Amino acid sequence: MEVCYQLPVLPLDRPVPKHVLSRRGAISFSSSSSLFGAPDPRQLSQRRGAISYDSSDQTALYIRMLGACVIFKQLFSRDVRVRSQAGFEPERRGSHPYLSIDFQTLHSRAEYSGAATGRKIRRLFSFQRHLHSIRLPQGTSYSTPLHILDEDYTGQAKCMLEKVGSWNFDIFLFDRLTNGNSLVTLTFHLLNRFGLIELFQLDMVKLRRFLVLVQDDYHSQNPYHNAVHAADVTQAMYCYLKEPKLSRSLTSCDILLGLLAAATHDLDHPGVNQPFLIKTDHYLAALYRNSSVLENHHWRSAVGLLRETELFFHLPADDWLNMERQLGSLILATDISRQNEYLSKFRTHLDQEDLCLGSAGDRHFVLQMALKCADICNPCRPWELSKQWSEKVTEEFFHQGEIEKQHKLEVSPLCDNQANTIGNIQIGFMTYVVEPLFAEWARFSDTRLSQTMLGHLGLNKASWSGLQTGSMDESDLEEPASRTSPQGSQES
Ligand SMILES: [Zn+2]
Repeated sequence: MEVCYQLPVLPLDRPVPKHVLSRRGAISFSSSSSLFGAPDPRQLSQRRGAISYDSSDQTALYIRMLGACVIFKQLFSRDVRVRSQAGFEPERRGSHPYLSIDFQTLHSRAEYSGAATGRKIRRLFSFQRHLHSIRLPQGTSYSTPLHILDEDYTGQAKCMLEKVGSWNFDIFLFDRLTNGNSLVTLTFHLLNRFGLIELFQLDMVKLRRFLVLVQDDYHSQNPYHNAVHAADVTQAMYCYLKEPKLSRSLTSCDILLGLLAAATHDLDHPGVNQPFLIKTDHYLAALYRNSSVLENHHWRSAVGLLRETELFFHLPADDWLNMERQLGSLILATDISRQNEYLSKFRTHLDQEDLCLGSAGDRHFVLQMALKCADICNPCRPWELSKQWSEKVTEEFFHQGEIEKQHKLEVSPLCDNQANTIGNIQIGFMTYVVEPLFAEWARFSDTRLSQTMLGHLGLNKASWSGLQTGSMDESDLEEPASRTSPQGSQES
């Protein structure tokens, strides 16, 4: 698929503050964006330790301070916003001329905000330990022993990383053990494990900064589309990259792109879906002409971070531009509304047995399919993990439904808590989306892992059916012994 990175263009009748448009080549839903609220300008400085200056033309310039400055600011609760001589002009609130919905408060109920604050503080201390442990001078690159970046984390987290290729990997536990830094820790570990940092001569300070920014640009208030989901998808992607057919043929560049695409594929997700953005006439929908709105935004946000951190700037311009394009093509493939298009193409290739992994185009297509599988692999995980994901995604759907009801909008399919249950949503999703995709993936990669995933999928579907019909209750499913694990579930 041809993807061309261009700065998006918004119709002139859509008012969007200049600073939002100019920010990293992507519009952000994050708290730095006045479009999504931030009624108190001081909130601007909370975002990943940013210090915000008002420049003379009122275009906000965000200088992101990592490490000590962040910790200092958090510890002393200082508002470090610096005002220009010209003075501070309050920024416009409301994203939309017809309907003003504050995305920052979409998931900001009390139970989330308390947890999010605690999590943020734990992360900061964890990062402080990291700084003490590495003491890397700016510009240090691959020649520094790489293992030292793992020293920040507890023994248990390190232990878990030794089995990072296990399909039973518990990302929720790993996220707790790393104080909410699962995405940074896991992605760094995997890049290092593949030798990609050394091979691409990535500056470790830039890389670390890039990963921290990526993690922080996920919204921890979203029950599902948050950094833990991104970490889970990255771990699944790693499992697929290790599969014999892929590991034999993929190049280092393919692997680097596959991992980065997984880590960034839902970047800055607002916790609502594309139909919601379209029906609320949101400017992002206009910007991307109602087509792969979220995926385009995720991709451009990722490119923005790559450029901001200059992670690939030491490579020839053609190379990093090409990597950005490929990253886009991978992320855009996760648009679930285009599922049938990709699945038919995959099926046709498998029927004709004409996938040639020596060809860059076919390898890229396989990477797209791998990322699609990783993105929706929750129902293929062991029940205890799968069930948690099902609850989280339903919570996010139903919350969107509540907002729609509040604003007297038509409630989106699956978002009405009166008409749906977790079980019926899951059974439909498994039957019409997950099973067809994983059946083809198992044809392509007929391995123990594929059989394990299909095994879990069948068991999980049966469990939801049982819970739906009342033939079993939750307690029947709690004891691991009460369920037969699919063969090979201890895959490592
Ligand atoms: Zn996703």
